[in-house]
Amino acid sequence: MPQNRDTSAARAARTRAKHERWAAEMVGAGVSMPIIFTCSICKTRLSALRAGALHVSVDKAMAYPGQLAALYAERSAEYGIPVLSASDLTDGPQLTGWHVRCDEHMPETDTYWIGIDGSETEKWLLLLTAHLCEKEWFQWTDWSQFLYSTMK
Ligand SMILES: [Zn+2]
Repeated sequence: MPQNRDTSAARAARTRAKHERWAAEMVGAGVSMPIIFTCSICKTRLSALRAGALHVSVDKAMAYPGQLAALYAERSAEYGIPVLSASDLTDGPQLTGWHVRCDEHMPETDTYWIGIDGSETEKWLLLLTAHLCEKEWFQWTDWSQFLYSTMK
């Protein structure tokens, strides 16, 4: 019986190759300001010589609404009214974070990858944002905070 050889790393590599092709098409469609991405671990600028990726845990993002609903139900049962406390908002479930890493420091977890090779522009980021908005799990990530920090 053949074994399932579709490992997490193989899926990640396929996803990354798809996004690299997509990014190349988008960058080729126009010119805008380049964006500098650096690995959050080693602080190296990502480029064609030191590629990396933006990544996020889709599993963690998908878990967020369930975690929040469970906490909401727990507090509502506890207090007899629909409520969350101020500490629930700060210490409870949080939106899933986006990260930038070079290939060497990429986590081996099941994540969503967008390849970065130093050719990314503001237009690329805008088109990427439009693409990500089509994903069910995207609303439970901290993309807006990521954009604010990236565009500083
Ligand atoms: Zn690194």
